[in-house]
Amino acid sequence: MSVDLPLVARGKVREVYDCSTPAHPDRLLLVASDRISAYDWVLPTPIPDKGRVLTQLSVWWFDQLQPVLASFGATHHLVSATDVPASVAGRAMLVRRLDMLPVECVARGYLSGGGTKEYERTGSIRDVVLPAGLVEGSQLPSPVFTPSTKAELGDHDEPIDFARVMSLVGAPRAEELRELTLALYRRGAEIARDAGIVLADTKFEFGLAGESLVLGDEVLTPDSSRFWPASSWAPGAAQPSYDKQFVRDWLTSPASGWDRASEPPPLPDDVVAATRERYVTAYERLTGQQFT
Ligand code: ATP
Ligand code: MG
Repeated sequence: MSVDLPLVARGKVREVYDCSTPAHPDRLLLVASDRISAYDWVLPTPIPDKGRVLTQLSVWWFDQLQPVLASFGATHHLVSATDVPASVAGRAMLVRRLDMLPVECVARGYLSGGGTKEYERTGSIRDVVLPAGLVEGSQLPSPVFTPSTKAELGDHDEPIDFARVMSLVGAPRAEELRELTLALYRRGAEIARDAGIVLADTKFEFGLAGESLVLGDEVLTPDSSRFWPASSWAPGAAQPSYDKQFVRDWLTSPASGWDRASEPPPLPDDVVAATRERYVTAYERLTGQQFT
């Protein structure tokens, strides 16, 4: 999976390369590997095709979300998913390099994970007051914007309230981020719902090209979102996640022998195969297209 370009950044799952040319000085190549992370660890065993599935899914979503972006006078950063080096074909996106805004734009339609903990402590998520009686997995009365700061590599993102977003990017831009994030979430959730998938929450990242707002990064993938099978949705306990559940269940079972404090063990073949299958199925259900 090597690319003969200058490496700009290496995340847990993706690599970012500088792809600028004299004609296009503002290009990056985002390459999704088959690495999988769980419980904040990158696992030693890759999931075949995961990078291609996630890239193709992002590419599909950019197209689906285009009308929502246009209604805000915004665009997305994807330039091409085909005009990429052959060694990373299918798993790479050529994108416009943006000045990323220092805010992770999270939208939640359901209570889960960190959101549940915050709600149980305060009755709110960030500055959004919620009704009493909600439990892990509950649908919220309406989707909420719960931003975080973009943490340094390896750090956890820090939750911030709307006032902090205003101080980071200015009040008008903060409003725009909140409204666009919620509109993208709503449209994404509607499409997912039709495919039998609950989009519990998701994170978008935006940047600026000049003065205009551009949707960047990956979008509505299992790595940036919580997807739950709609058929088994039952508030009151942790919902099975669509894709990583096999991996998480195995890692926390006695079979793995893992203590969660040291390097995780290699995944058995059947766990790898079942996980790959879930990623492919999520792609196929959402897009209605066969994964090749
Ligand atoms: P990790 O995934 O390990 O938590 P990470 O989020 O930094 O780390 P990736 O998500 O793999 O790693 O890397 C993608 C990086 O590229 C992110 O920092 C993201 O903000 C940035 N990025 C995405 N799209 C663009 C763009 N169009 N222009 C500039 N930077 C971008
Ligand atoms: Mg990231």
